[in-house]
Amino acid sequence: MEITNEAKTYTKGGKPASYIPELALQSVEQFAACIVDQNGNYFEVGNIEAQFTLQSISKVINFIVACEYHGLQFVLDKVDVEPTAPGKPFNPMINAGAITIALMLPGESVKDRVDYVVDFLNRITDSPHQINEAVYRFEIETTHRNRAIAYYLKANDYLLCDVEEAVETYIRLCSLEVSTKDFAKIGLMLAGNGVHPLTNEKLITPKTAKITKALMTTCGLYNASGKYAASIGIPMKSGVSGSVLCTVSNGKVEHLKGKLGIGVYSPGIDDIGNSVAGMKFIEKLSQAYDLSIF
Ligand code: GLU
Repeated sequence: MEITNEAKTYTKGGKPASYIPELALQSVEQFAACIVDQNGNYFEVGNIEAQFTLQSISKVINFIVACEYHGLQFVLDKVDVEPTAPGKPFNPMINAGAITIALMLPGESVKDRVDYVVDFLNRITDSPHQINEAVYRFEIETTHRNRAIAYYLKANDYLLCDVEEAVETYIRLCSLEVSTKDFAKIGLMLAGNGVHPLTNEKLITPKTAKITKALMTTCGLYNASGKYAASIGIPMKSGVSGSVLCTVSNGKVEHLKGKLGIGVYSPGIDDIGNSVAGMKFIEKLSQAYDLSIF
């Protein structure tokens, strides 16, 4: 596919995340993409089973699980949904909101919370997921910024229990391994507003699915969310492993019609944290197949 070949020319345009050794070791030449439509047709580029860590995309999963368990209002009473706003933690797609939400996850321990989320993820992707312990061990020893955020949240009564427990929960879920095929299935479930188009299983409520997509659109790509809302126009969340989760509710052009889930992985990220080749692939796809919601 011409779009794939063009996107691959950008793989060396980024560098792997340098602050986590296991990510820094990844070859930027890796490129994988998986698209699945509502009829179960897959479009595959590269190794769609290649594993990488969720990193920031865990924020999407954790937000969904917290909303489904406690109800949306409970979550929104504690975490805002603004791209930037004074007061309570800004939103679930940035670290302050995500760490607050980590403590809302069901369970009385780090293990319980992580196991709950892994079970939820397994139900959507129909595949097992494990923690990359090497990534976890390194991050938990060096995540000083997240600890500082957690102590600030504690000092302002947004974190109602142990700071270390919140940070460990959050970092363990960042270290969960997934693939672009998994992302395609998650994206398709979101496109179906919580009903999985392939199984018709009701996995989450439409209310949770819709606000999740709104947050991905407004806050999913760090400080480039506005730029990509304009140039691509679909709900996306990126992570520093060089992966992007996308969801399309109404594809209009042949071959990419109806509901779609898209996962992309290319470890070379830009200074903002987004995969250079991954974003180029999605941008060209959106332009060629008119995927924008605007
Ligand atoms: N575990 C990373 C952190 O919290 C995730 C960063 C990201 O993917 O944006 O710093």
